[in-house]
Amino acid sequence: HAAKQTGEPYRAWSAELDERAGEHARLGAELRAALDAGQFQVVYQPIVRLPERRVTAVEALVRWQHPQRGMVSPAAFIPVAEQNGLIVELGAWILHTACRRMADWRAELGALAPDRVSVNVSARQLARADFPATVAAALATTGLPARCLTIEVTETAVFGGGQALTSLHELRALGVRIALDDFGTGHSSLGLLQTVPVDVLKVDKSFVDNITEAGRHTVIARALIQVSEGLGLTAVAEGVETAEQATALYELGYRLLQGYYFGKPTAEPRFEVDFIHAG
Ligand code: C2E
Ligand code: MG
Ligand code: MG
Ligand code: MG
Repeated sequence: HAAKQTGEPYRAWSAELDERAGEHARLGAELRAALDAGQFQVVYQPIVRLPERRVTAVEALVRWQHPQRGMVSPAAFIPVAEQNGLIVELGAWILHTACRRMADWRAELGALAPDRVSVNVSARQLARADFPATVAAALATTGLPARCLTIEVTETAVFGGGQALTSLHELRALGVRIALDDFGTGHSSLGLLQTVPVDVLKVDKSFVDNITEAGRHTVIARALIQVSEGLGLTAVAEGVETAEQATALYELGYRLLQGYYFGKPTAEPRFEVDFIHAG
């Protein structure tokens, strides 16, 4: 409204929007070609259990190796793929790729393989009635047991109930685990736990960031581990970057941690158990 008074800022804002819309459309068209050209890759980030430091799981994260732009962040292209619908096909490819890789690790590494792979799923995928069948097909064609797969969804994706909630119940019936991603940042986080079938709470990085300062974040992180334990859920702390954060989280009761401190997402993750010297 302030913009209307002067005129100029409004025009600048409008031009910027046009530019962004143009960029969006360009990116959207490129995504289709990129999928056919094999420019997407899946990388894996360890989720570590303390105190053993065992890599119990890996999270699959998509990457776009663009021939001109270099590595494009999923934060930039996932929203575009959601909007133009390509996320359904791209998401199915990610799911198959991650399940195949996890099945290969199990065959090659036996007991040294992680227990499960975690795959992110968008609201648009979850809202489709055929999504559970897509998951079942990925498991069937790769031979991966359902218990070795976790589906990560955000609170926002399941907030509306409806088909998304039905999909989650069907996934659960297959034996797949459900994780609520970025927990605590969406709508009605705690309220959702009353109705949504969920196994894992991924406590958002924003609560981990200042965990060593004994402020509000610490109080919330402590409350979330208590809620998690009380409901029989598994808590994972996201975005752990320092040893101090890991120690503070461990003292609060967190046993599953993920973050750059333990390992960045990579195409060739390592699973060797790095034993802590017991004295
Ligand atoms: P997310 O699922 O919450 O994934 C965690 C993000 O945090 C990843 O970013 C990861 O690289 C980053 N991260 C992990 N540890 C640390 C840390 O210690 N410090 C910092 N600063 N960052 C850390 P990434 O890979 O860029 O993905 C961003 C988001 O894009 C994901 O958030 C997820 O919402 C979405 N995304 C990524 N891959 C997929 C996918 O295959 N399908 C869908 N639907 N969404 C995806
Ligand atoms: Mg995730
Ligand atoms: Mg997350
Ligand atoms: Mg996140």
